[in-house]
Amino acid sequence: MERYLAPLAYLPTGWQQNVRIEIDDNGFISQITPNDAGEQCQKLTGAILPGMPNLHSHAFQRAMAGLGEQRLNPHDSFWSWREQMYQVALQISPQQLYVIAKSLYMEMLEGGFTSVAEFHYLHHDANGKPYAGNDEMADAISRAAADAGIGLTLLPTLYSYSDFAMAPASTTQRRFIQTTEQYLAQLERLKKLISTRANQRLGGCFHSLRACTPEQINEVVATLPSDWPLHLHLSEQVKEVNRCLEVHQCTPLDWLSRSVEINSRWCMIHATHITDSELELLAKSKAVAGLCPLTEASLGDGLYEVDSFLSQGGRIGIGSDSHISVDVAEELRMLEYGQRLKHQQRNFLASEQYPSTAERLLVESYQGGAQALAQPIGQLAKGQRADFIELDMNDPYLASVSTEHLLDSWVFAHYKNAIQSVMVAGKWQVKEHHHQQHQPMQAALLETLKELRS
Ligand SMILES: [Zn+2]
Repeated sequence: MERYLAPLAYLPTGWQQNVRIEIDDNGFISQITPNDAGEQCQKLTGAILPGMPNLHSHAFQRAMAGLGEQRLNPHDSFWSWREQMYQVALQISPQQLYVIAKSLYMEMLEGGFTSVAEFHYLHHDANGKPYAGNDEMADAISRAAADAGIGLTLLPTLYSYSDFAMAPASTTQRRFIQTTEQYLAQLERLKKLISTRANQRLGGCFHSLRACTPEQINEVVATLPSDWPLHLHLSEQVKEVNRCLEVHQCTPLDWLSRSVEINSRWCMIHATHITDSELELLAKSKAVAGLCPLTEASLGDGLYEVDSFLSQGGRIGIGSDSHISVDVAEELRMLEYGQRLKHQQRNFLASEQYPSTAERLLVESYQGGAQALAQPIGQLAKGQRADFIELDMNDPYLASVSTEHLLDSWVFAHYKNAIQSVMVAGKWQVKEHHHQQHQPMQAALLETLKELRS
């Protein structure tokens, strides 16, 4: 058992001083006590916060970060970016994916994310042939997470078609494509693999309603254990909503909810363009709306009606998705700033209960993220996994403010090195602002990026 004393820790009751944290041999918090004298404790120097769950990641896309920013035609959009993304998807090998994902997950830890939901659809080899009997790409993701020391909810993704009305997949989608039967067989294989890895679990996942039908989704959900989370890209682009209207005479969530029960197991990624009635349905269902503010801005997706959703009891969480940036504070800042620009107001997502904008966004994202990953995380409390970050209280900009401004100072006014150390399941992964394997990984990362970018 490990015992720590934090001068300041953010508990479900708010900031508390001199907090004793006891962690059992499995990496869970066995006792947490404010105003403690700290006998037999290792003394921490920073302010402790829960680590953030990252509810949406496509790890391989980190390899193209920064390379989609040159105009190829006057109408560059999500769809032209997707063609570039497919070129990376088509060439990356299991070993290259391992290096990219491990480096990314180390960056996530440095940026304040302590667990990740990996939305994984790169199933087959470069020719579109299944790896013989094993799942080399999924295994690369799982090993990368284990070796980086981040928690993982692996979401093997069903992807069968290229568009609504079961349009056949294109050749550039050949690494993704599975029938329902092939997908269920893959889940059975991965159950064995993931059960051997600490701090990892599986969830069910459906690429989008372009890529699979509600009938397929129902068939899969009927076979899954009832505690598995379910993820889906919902309505990211106006073009896909219009296509759904054209083919099915209704919008995506409306269509899905006619035959599939929408409940708290669901995490709807990019619910960006849902209608008012769909928003009401989603809020009532207690599903999580998975927001990826920087990627949604980068891809020109649009802005979600966060305020209206939250005020109807909706749940949200954040993901770094395409990984143009890998930082909790930056995602939350973008989330709030998008709303400020849209509504021409300040502190738009603060509330009566949480006048601190950063505190509101953090609390909502901790809860929604933990739900979407279906892991015991997101709070510093007894029984939760000991996943936390330590803010550097030797930093003058953090050390000079009262606790009521501390979270806002981190999220809105601090651009680097605010996070001094990070723990996952009782083990330190980041110390002195860097992951312990940061330097040793640089050479392998450079080599892999050169290969993928040549
Ligand atoms: Zn995505």
